[in-house]
Amino acid sequence: MSEEAKIHFLGAAGTVTGSKFLLEVFGKNILIDCGMFQGLKELRELNWQKFPFPPAKIDLVLLTHGHLDHTGALPRLVKEGFKGEIRGTSPTLAIAGIILTDSAKIQQEDAERANSEHFSVHDPALPLYNEDDVAKTLKLFSTVKPLEWITFSEQIKYRLIPNGHILGSTYIELKIGKKNFIFSGDIGQKNDSLLKPPQKPERADYLFLESTYGDRLHPQEETDKILKQAIESTLEQQGILIIPSFAVERLQTLMYEIYKLHKENKIPPIPVYIDSPMGNEVLKTFSRFMSWHKLSHEEFREMKKRFRIITNYRDTWKTIEDPQPKVVIAGSGMVTGGRVLTYLRFFIENPSTTILLAGYQAEGTRGRQIQEGLSEVKIFGKYYRLKAAVKSINSLSAHADQEGLLEWLDEIKNSPQRIFLIHGEKGASDYLRVKIRDRYGWRAEIPHLNQVVNVEI
Ligand SMILES: [Zn+2]
Repeated sequence: MSEEAKIHFLGAAGTVTGSKFLLEVFGKNILIDCGMFQGLKELRELNWQKFPFPPAKIDLVLLTHGHLDHTGALPRLVKEGFKGEIRGTSPTLAIAGIILTDSAKIQQEDAERANSEHFSVHDPALPLYNEDDVAKTLKLFSTVKPLEWITFSEQIKYRLIPNGHILGSTYIELKIGKKNFIFSGDIGQKNDSLLKPPQKPERADYLFLESTYGDRLHPQEETDKILKQAIESTLEQQGILIIPSFAVERLQTLMYEIYKLHKENKIPPIPVYIDSPMGNEVLKTFSRFMSWHKLSHEEFREMKKRFRIITNYRDTWKTIEDPQPKVVIAGSGMVTGGRVLTYLRFFIENPSTTILLAGYQAEGTRGRQIQEGLSEVKIFGKYYRLKAAVKSINSLSAHADQEGLLEWLDEIKNSPQRIFLIHGEKGASDYLRVKIRDRYGWRAEIPHLNQVVNVEI
């Protein structure tokens, strides 16, 4: 009789966030990623549900990368009894540490604010987890070298293979019995300016493929030209260029793009400030893990020298008061919080200000309101007129687009027995499903949340 493996789709099934896949096989329980649900309220509420599987019975967690939607539920898993190892590459674990610490802090602050203003339906409002829970989680972290096969049990081996999404990111290949399981993680772009192109699998019996941009191609635009033009008009108007940015990866990419413009003398000198405590921490991981990105020591040092890195709030104020034209890159990327709000409060009503949105702005965020040109924007309880010029860069994505996802499959030599499209809105996954059928003749399916599937091994 052939053996079976059971797969539980505990997140990122029919949606982008909350990545969590449990493999029950040969008496072992392995969790691939343990992410937080983000975005709409009905998704965020899922973070409060009990795990549908006892955490104490999970033997191992493997992480594809450090993003919150892949790691953000770990402290709850630990709080509810998980005692095994949490394994990922060194940069993945470093970034996860930064992100989880920040997440606990934000949740504690939100809960405190809700309690003092009595607006929560939960009384008292509680954080999902706190910094102590994060500290206990970090103790279970254990590093895996990329590409090296690791024997977990007689029938189970695994390895982590770089896939170019963010620093340290990988896809995961498991050899279970005679079958290969591939969990794609989030796949990066092949022409990323900082990261090496994603490596590709050569065999997949069971494939779990992300589909975030399954229905789209990234626009062909020249980031450097948009940046150059925004910087030049800021100098002309003696104004400020404010670039809201995600702290992980996007900030470092923007730094690199601006550094290149400086180095090639394509823009006049202008001070560029980095005001993102978390982005700063991530920048340190870039200098710790040099082999994980394309920059040489020399280049990295040169790049850092060109920026003024703000480390305390007093310098934020000094920067605001200084009248000379400047560029400020600050979090958060969708203008939902962070230091960028302090700058906008002072400069959003000034027509010599330019706001450059450097990434996707989700519905319901302040960034989206600014992008849509709303006449007034609310910041810290007060309305401000949007007089600043607004521009966008749309091509800076850490994700492969539809073509990139399809190309990622082109070295697979066998026909996968089953393909599960995960980590995508339903429309995007379905589009990719049809494209995979047309290009490769393979049938793919879209699992739903909490679905359990048995596969032969
Ligand atoms: Zn990601």
